[in-house]
Amino acid sequence: MLAGKTALITGSTSGIGLGIAELFAKDGANIILNGFGDPSDIELLRSGMEEKYGVKVRFQGADVSKAAEIEAMFGAIEGEFGGIDILVNNAGIQYVAPIDEFPPAKWDAIIAINLSASFHTIRHALPTMKKRHWGRIIQLASAHALVASPFKSAYVAAKHGIAGLTKTVALEVAEQGITVNAICPGYVWTPLVEKQVPETAKARGISEEEVIKNVLLAAQPTKQFVTVEQIAALAGFLTSEAAASITGSILPIDGGWTAH
Ligand code: NAD
Repeated sequence: MLAGKTALITGSTSGIGLGIAELFAKDGANIILNGFGDPSDIELLRSGMEEKYGVKVRFQGADVSKAAEIEAMFGAIEGEFGGIDILVNNAGIQYVAPIDEFPPAKWDAIIAINLSASFHTIRHALPTMKKRHWGRIIQLASAHALVASPFKSAYVAAKHGIAGLTKTVALEVAEQGITVNAICPGYVWTPLVEKQVPETAKARGISEEEVIKNVLLAAQPTKQFVTVEQIAALAGFLTSEAAASITGSILPIDGGWTAH
C-alpha cells in the first residue's frame, strides 16, 4: 500500500515511533529511522527491518532539538530519496515537577524536542510533498494536547502547541494533496512512561504502584494502557487514501480519558 513512498519517523528507535516504522515498512514504505540508542542495537534494528520487509531502511541520528542537525538530515534524505512523502513527528521527552521547581533547561529541551522540532521538519518536508502533490504529516501529540495534568507544564504547553501547529499547517496545504493530523494517545507503556513513574511518585508524594493505579490508569476509563500497535494502526490509516479528507484533526486514542 505504501510501496514507493518514503517515510521519516522521528524518535523511532523505541516505543511508539518504532511501532509505526515497523508498520509502514510492512506496508512497503522505505523508512528513515531516527533517535538515540546504542549504535550496534540500532544497526541490528535497521538491517533486521530491511531484511524482514524488503524495503530500504536508513538511520539518521539527528538530535531533533537542533535545527542544524534536522537540516543536515533532510539534506542526506534528499540525496538518496529526493525527499519524503510521509513525516511522523514522534520524538518526545517528558519531565515531571512542580513549575516552581521545574529546571529551565528541561523546559527548553521539551519545547525544542516536542514542539520546535516539528516546525523544522515540516518546513523541510513540505517542498517535496507540494511538488509530488501528495503528503502525510502525522504528529504524535498526546491527550495532553487537549487537557492538562499538574506537574507537566512544559509537556502540556508543547503538546497544546503541536495541536495549533497541526491545524495551521493543515489549512495552508489543504489544496495540495497533503494532510496534517495529530494523534493524541493516552498512556502507553513505553520507556517514556516508565521513566516518569518515579518522578510522579516524588512530585505527588505517593508510591510508584499508586502512580500506576491512581494517576496513570485512573485517567483512562478503560483502565487499560493504550498499545503501540493501536497507535500504529491509526497512523497507518491516516496514510491511506480513505483518510484523504481527514486533515487538521486532533485525534484522541486515549481509552476515554478526554471524554471526562
Ligand atoms: P520513548 O521514550 O519510547 O521514545 C522516544 C523516542 O524519541 C526514542 O527513540 C528517543 O531516542 C527519541 N528521542 C528523544 N529525544 C530525541 C532527540 N533530541 N532527537 C531525536 N530523537 C529523540 O517514548 P514514546 O512513549 O514512544 O513516545 C513517543 C511520542 O509519543 C512522544 O512524542 C510522546 O510525547 C508521545 N506520547 C507518548 C505517550 C505514552 O504514554 N507513552 C502518550 C502520549 C503521547
